[in-house]
Amino acid sequence: MSAQALLERYATVREGLTSAARASGREPSAVRLLAVSKKHSVEDMLALYAAGQSIFGENYVQEALAKAETLSSRGIDASQCLHMIGHVQSKKAPQVAGHFALIHSLDSRKLADALEKRLTGKARQPVLVEVNIADEAQKSGLAAQDLDAFAEYLQEHCPHLALEGLMCLPPVFDQPESARPFFARLRKLNESLRLKTGLPLPELSMGMSGDYVSAIAEGASIVRIGTAIFGPRI
Ligand SMILES: *Cc1c(COP(=O)(O)O)cnc(C)c1O
Repeated sequence: MSAQALLERYATVREGLTSAARASGREPSAVRLLAVSKKHSVEDMLALYAAGQSIFGENYVQEALAKAETLSSRGIDASQCLHMIGHVQSKKAPQVAGHFALIHSLDSRKLADALEKRLTGKARQPVLVEVNIADEAQKSGLAAQDLDAFAEYLQEHCPHLALEGLMCLPPVFDQPESARPFFARLRKLNESLRLKTGLPLPELSMGMSGDYVSAIAEGASIVRIGTAIFGPRI
């Protein structure tokens, strides 16, 4: 895709976010756009960065770290700019802890422990807990009923992990409206977890290219959009 086409698609997505926020009576600035750049080039990321996009989502640790090196060589603080949204194996924790502005995909005690072990002193790693919101066998994420106990575990045993909210990846439907009940469910889980933990939990990471309008209507604070910006992944 030409740089101009990329910037046009980006502008269209931005406008879509703004109108979705307004349509649900929310401030457009209350919804952050995470540009999901997995399997797309670092050149495309740099073009968007120059156009004002400041946060990018990556799924694969190796790919993300290679891109982080290029970003750093251009004077960009990659640890502020990259978010990890893919499943992380706990053996990869050393390469992940402290290198991402937000990890959206914390889904086990094993991973929490492995991240915690790599962090010392004043370092805090912001995390979201990924919830398997439709109880799909093939998906990672914590079961909703395990959420309270997991948050309690984090509070007791992982002082270097800063829990900021929840993330989900609902089933893909032909009708984007069909995902809406799952987004509503994540919002309610986050609200009850807020009461339970006393933490502010400001982040709800939900909504992708096909269903972000419904996610914003249900309170998404971060939408993760790849294809609508960068085109299909090869
Ligand atoms: C790939 C991916 C996205 C982006 O999906 P698109 O449909 O390309 O917008 C969002 N979230 C997660 C967790 C992903 O893996």
